[in-house]
Amino acid sequence: MIDPWFEIERIDDDTFVIAEPSHVRSHLIIGDERAVLFDTGLGVRPIRPVVAELTDRPVLTVASHHHFDHVGGNHEFDEVAIHHAGAELLAQGPPPGWLTAYWEGFLDYVERFSPDASTARPLPADFAPQHPDFRPSAATRLLDDGEVLPLGGRDLRVVHVPGHTQDSICLVDESHGFLFGGDAIDTGGIYAHLPTADPAQFVASLRRLDALLPSTVVAVLSPHSRAGRHGRDVIGREADAIATALTGGVVFESGKDCFRQAACVASIGDFAIYLAPVSP
Ligand SMILES: [Zn+2]
Repeated sequence: MIDPWFEIERIDDDTFVIAEPSHVRSHLIIGDERAVLFDTGLGVRPIRPVVAELTDRPVLTVASHHHFDHVGGNHEFDEVAIHHAGAELLAQGPPPGWLTAYWEGFLDYVERFSPDASTARPLPADFAPQHPDFRPSAATRLLDDGEVLPLGGRDLRVVHVPGHTQDSICLVDESHGFLFGGDAIDTGGIYAHLPTADPAQFVASLRRLDALLPSTVVAVLSPHSRAGRHGRDVIGREADAIATALTGGVVFESGKDCFRQAACVASIGDFAIYLAPVSP
């Protein structure tokens, strides 16, 4: 039986979303010989038994980047891969206060919206959001741009897309027509304001990705928006939205992100672009 903290969505016979509804969507990508788990979620409940229900292949976990909401279950696995720019940050764990701020913000969100309006699952009885547990993990494999992960009858190509963070990657799955975007590609809140972000680099990374993506890739699978699935045009639209925000010709509001870090936020189309607050 699947742990009720998680929600499973079948994309096709060999591709699954393992979601923590209202939080993060991790993706299980299964080949003939091996599988990749792209992100492992918050670590609120063990994700490895869920993976074992879906595949008996050996599993390599691949982090889209080092942020704690994507690597919380890494410690359950023997093989952990991340872009080499993220290895040190992965081992360090989140900055002080980010975890508790995240859960405080989430509890506020649940309070403000009725349970009907939120897809969030009830927190497990043994999980204390005021004192969230987090186990940092060590990378066993460092990835680079262009590297191919052969799964047997299915290859995943790593594309480095620095901007949201310096270690952000996407996985190109040409045979199945998917791009697994990580936090680099989504609608809704686009975080380009954190200390390791670089919004101009973010735009350049998205333009490069858009140019090199094979025409067979038709769907982008993302971790945070409720839909979680976009047409490939989302890449260019997101790049345009960040570029527009950088020109300054849009209205910014002061806001806070889900880690309760201050940001300037501009709503552009179906994106909310977060840039670093301007110093007084
Ligand atoms: Zn992130």
